[in-house]
Formats: sequence, C-alpha cells, structure tokens
Amino acid sequence: MPELPEVETVRRGIAPHLTGQIVTEVVVRQPRLRWPVPEELALQLPGQIIRRVERRAKYLLLRTDAGTVILHLGMTGRLRLLPAYTPLQKHDHADLVLASGQCLRFNDSRRFGALLWTTQPAEQHPLLQALGPEPFDATFSGAYLRRRAQGRTPAIKTFIMDNHIVVGVGNIYANEALFAAGISPLRPAGQITEVECERLTVAIREILDEAIRQGGTTLRDFIGGDGERGYFQQSLRVYDRHGLPCAACGQPIQRCRIGQRATYYCPHCQP
Ligand SMILES: [Zn+2]
Repeated sequence: MPELPEVETVRRGIAPHLTGQIVTEVVVRQPRLRWPVPEELALQLPGQIIRRVERRAKYLLLRTDAGTVILHLGMTGRLRLLPAYTPLQKHDHADLVLASGQCLRFNDSRRFGALLWTTQPAEQHPLLQALGPEPFDATFSGAYLRRRAQGRTPAIKTFIMDNHIVVGVGNIYANEALFAAGISPLRPAGQITEVECERLTVAIREILDEAIRQGGTTLRDFIGGDGERGYFQQSLRVYDRHGLPCAACGQPIQRCRIGQRATYYCPHCQP
C-alpha cells in the first residue's frame, strides 16, 4: 500500500506536468471505486486550470478555481502521465485529459482508491477534516505530542500511527522512528516524557524525509508519477530484522505484535 512518502513522491512527479494545465476532458470508465466518482467531476472540472498539486496525508489535491480533485491511491492505485488516448490497460478507470496532450490516468485493480470532487474548501471535506497535523508541520512538536499523549494508555507505537494524532506514520516508519528515538514501542503513550516526545517528533520527520528522498519504502512494485519503476527499499535499521544484531549495540532485535502490527525493537537501546 502506498505510504505517505510514496504519495509525496508521486505528487512531486506529477506536479510539474499538471500545474497550470487546463483539463480538457474527464473520462470515467469505472465510477465504482472506494466511493462512487461524483458525476459533477466530469461536468465541472473540464475547462478548469489546475493551479496547484498538493498533498494532505495520503490524499492528493488538485486545486482549481472551481473546486478540488481529491485523489487517493488506496491499496493498488497508480497514476501515470501518458499521451492522451493511449490504448487502455486493464483497470484503467479514469483519465484527466490535459491541454498539453497528456492525460493523467488512474489505474486501480482493487478499487480501494478514490477520485472525488469538492467545491468546498478541501480541508473541510469529511475525509480530511479530522486528520492530525502533517509530520513536517511546525505544529507537530514534542509539546504537541506530549499534550495529546497525556493520560493515554495505548502503546506509543499505536498512538503515533493514529491519523488523528499525526498523519503518515505507517507501521514501518513507526518502528524505525521509535528505534531512532530510543523509545520502547510497548510503553504507554502517557508515560513518554516531553524530552522523549521531542526526540520522537524529530525522528519521525527524519525517517519520513529520508523515505521521501529515496522514493518511499514500499515493499512491492510501485509506479511513480513519471510512470517509472525504480523505487528501492530504504535502509531499515530495525524493521524485519528479528534475531539480527542491533545496528547500535549488537544485541538481537526482538519481535512482537502491538495492535496486530508487526513490531521490531531493541530492548537494550529502546528501554
Ligand atoms: Zn540495540
């Protein structure tokens, strides 16, 4: 499943091709995605200029003066920029045709992705309004995390994976960030000190930033905004290293499950 770094990589890949372009046509071949593709999309988007290509959590936002396209890749969604009217492949569900002669083509075999349209401020869309801050926002600080964690009993790992607290911290990134911050994933969120919260926010940012620079850690095939395969796995220091020596102290990495999710940690380095 594409994680935040992959979605950001896609955004950076497609943005130069979309920004400033007029959408000349919207072709929806399969409206039954995770939610139905609204009919208004094909009626209201053509003729609009894509002003900006933004990302909020794992949603891509194509901003126009008339409204915003909200796109989510779900489990298997892929976006490609192709010459308009390129012959179709299986699961090519929708095209946004551009005045440049290219089209943005959405392919999604499992159809958990979304292609939506809103004429309201996108931030107020039901899918977006309850989301926590972006990890790179200044509001996501040690003090913020400490305040939100106060009195909370879930494991800190579960806590930082909660989209209402902060977006974009998938399972691999949570494992890696807790290792980098030297915090046991098992500790109750409310027991993490402010200094530790500060270390953790820094670690989350660094891990995600590294992942974005490398194009994401995705463990399966993934096609980026430019249609090129070419993602490789980020160097993982703790994830999937059960029994292997800790990179810092040499003791074996432990594995357990927290909230059904595979969890890896070094008991010595992450007290
Ligand atoms: Zn260690």
